[in-house]
Amino acid sequence: MSGHVDVLAMAREQLSVAANYLELDSGLHQVLSRPMRQLIVNFPVVLDNGEVMVFEGYRVQHNSSRGPTKGGIRYHQDVDVNETTALAMWMTWKCAVANIPFGGAKGSVKVDTKQFSRREIEKLTRRYVTEINIILGERSDIPAPDIGTNAQVMAWIMDTFSMQKGYTVPGVVTGKPVDLGGSLGRVEATGRGVIVAAEEACKTIGLNFNGARVVVQGFGNVGSVAASIAAQHGAIVVGISDAVGGIYNPKGLPVDELVHRYSGREGGIREYKDAQPVSNSELLELDCDILIPAAIAAQITGDNADKIKAKLIVEGANGPSTPDADKILHDKGILVVPDILANAGGVIVSYFEWVQDLQNFFWEEDAVNERLTKIMRHSFAQVHEAMMIHKTDMRTAALIIGVKRVADATIRRGIFP
Ligand code: NAD
Repeated sequence: MSGHVDVLAMAREQLSVAANYLELDSGLHQVLSRPMRQLIVNFPVVLDNGEVMVFEGYRVQHNSSRGPTKGGIRYHQDVDVNETTALAMWMTWKCAVANIPFGGAKGSVKVDTKQFSRREIEKLTRRYVTEINIILGERSDIPAPDIGTNAQVMAWIMDTFSMQKGYTVPGVVTGKPVDLGGSLGRVEATGRGVIVAAEEACKTIGLNFNGARVVVQGFGNVGSVAASIAAQHGAIVVGISDAVGGIYNPKGLPVDELVHRYSGREGGIREYKDAQPVSNSELLELDCDILIPAAIAAQITGDNADKIKAKLIVEGANGPSTPDADKILHDKGILVVPDILANAGGVIVSYFEWVQDLQNFFWEEDAVNERLTKIMRHSFAQVHEAMMIHKTDMRTAALIIGVKRVADATIRRGIFP
């Protein structure tokens, strides 16, 4: 999914940097660099035309020393087990940085959802969940949405798991529709958290968020909400894109109108005429203050990092910058708020949803948003402080905190038996 970039190698390289800072014991480093469990499933689906097609899917649990594993399910044609493992590892650090009681996991199915009907995607989902349900559970491993999946897919996951248990288990998955035990604020949570991180980061570099020029790559769940809240908070969104390409207007784009008319319709934003069309690579290099990659991994690399003009990059996507790019951006003085901090809003509100499901007691949206903002600000402050203490970049600082919390939990629990 990330072209030629090996994202697992990238995740392991990031871990090694943190391990060096922490002077981690080599045995412990080995434990953390590998997933505790990888399940590969091949399963058939009868298509609408009666043909049988076999799909490949994965569920990877990286580490559960701080709690049940948690992580999204991605439907995309380019996924593989290594990428899924890298994403599971990042989830472990992300939950630890936010200090919520989960380990990391990730799931995926190799499928181009655009080629299949809604009924086929439902059948695929139900069969995939049946294949991986031996390792899922509200106390063991809890999925959520990611690229190509949404609240409806989460509802099918919950229903399938519950049918097999014989009773309703809302806590087995988060990001569900609100009327099925979902949390208010979950849909917006990742994008909202991205903007909290952006605003906090602005304060540290003396940039006024109000009036800042923002470019967002990806116009799905994370990108469209981040763009919309950025505009509500006074920023000027000058560029946005989806998988087909982007649009640019230095005077600003009408984000809410674009969300209303085009989100969920791949390529739709290009129909908006009062803007200049740009490719996804041109979009990243636009003149702006804040760049929010919110699509896929490995978008900012050694090849284009030098051309980035933003002063601040806030990673809505997972793994959008490679380690090569990190070095270049750091040398250029561009502050990068890393994925494991910047996009933690999703898993934080997923945690709230899980707590609400376990208690059967539901919160008002204001309470959700307030608690989300509080955790995001607190995590940002801790990571920023670690960055100053260790005189490093923000990703390394976040990893130092996340990896240390997981390492400490592993040591305290001890190696069984
Ligand atoms: P989504 O499927 O809703 O949207 C993805 C967007 O990226 C779409 O607009 C799509 O057109 C665009 N896109 C796909 N391929 C692209 C390409 N090659 N170039 C440019 N744009 C491309 O997915 P999402 O849930 O918004 O997730 C986006 C990113 O945020 C992913 O990296 C995901 O792992 C990460 N993330 C999501 C959540 C969440 O709660 N949904 C939480 C944390 C992190």
